[in-house]
This record gives sequence, structure tokens and C-alpha cells, in this order.
Amino acid sequence: MKAIPVIFKKTQRPQRKVVMTEQARNGILTYCKMNHPNEGILILRGAYKKGQVFVDGLVIPPFSHTGPTFAGFPHTFLPLDPSYVGTVHSHPTGEAKPSVTDLHNFFGFVSIIVQSPYEDGDLFAYDRDGKLLEMTVILEKS
Ligand SMILES: [Zn+2]
Repeated sequence: MKAIPVIFKKTQRPQRKVVMTEQARNGILTYCKMNHPNEGILILRGAYKKGQVFVDGLVIPPFSHTGPTFAGFPHTFLPLDPSYVGTVHSHPTGEAKPSVTDLHNFFGFVSIIVQSPYEDGDLFAYDRDGKLLEMTVILEKS
């Protein structure tokens, strides 16, 4: 039996990962619950390094407008802040899957979608192509 050589393409990018603090995760869940039954949207703050998106802060976007089916904000009003790594918004009804509108409005490195009832396991991270990304929450020591 011939050994099949495994070729690693140099052009192949590693899977992007999302790491979030517990505090940021809890903040997102609280904000989504507050906005229910409307969609809530927040800007994710943190850093992006070597394919890893680190989230440790949240910013309420300026001039945001929300409704039961759409949450958005005009990107032109956003300052070009390198600590803005993406957005998170809620889907009060249905699954936490990115819609066509969501992908068109992609901002930064990651788009997180939270589905109702906004519990710990209701957050899902996606890249620009709508591909599900691995997400880790750093639990704070008590
Ligand atoms: Zn959406």
C-alpha cells in the first residue's frame, strides 16, 4: 500500500476562532433580553491577532435602529476604531443563522448571532461567508 502524502497548502488559512470573556458574554445576553421581542445589536470590542478574535468589551452603536426583524446601524457613522472586531445581534424568532441581510452588513472579523431565549448556549459566531466558527468563553475565577 502506497502512502498518500498529505499536502498542506500554504494558502489555506487556519480556521478563525473567537474567544470571549464571560463578562462580555453575559453583557450580550442581558442586552438581548432587554431588547426582546426586538432585535438588539452591539459592536464587539477587543483585538484580532493571528486568526483569533478576542472579545472583551461591548459598545452600543450610535444611531442604531431596531425592529422585530432587523437591527442595524449606518456603518458610515462608525469611527475607524481598530478595537472594533465585529458585531453581535439577536434573532428574537427563529434560528441563529445569518440572513442574507446579515452577510451584506458584515462588519469586522466576526458576526455573532444570539437566538431566543438568550442563554449561555444560544450564541453562534460566523465569518464573512456565513461559516460557523469555534467560540470559547473564558470563565472568570470566583
Ligand atoms: Zn440577523
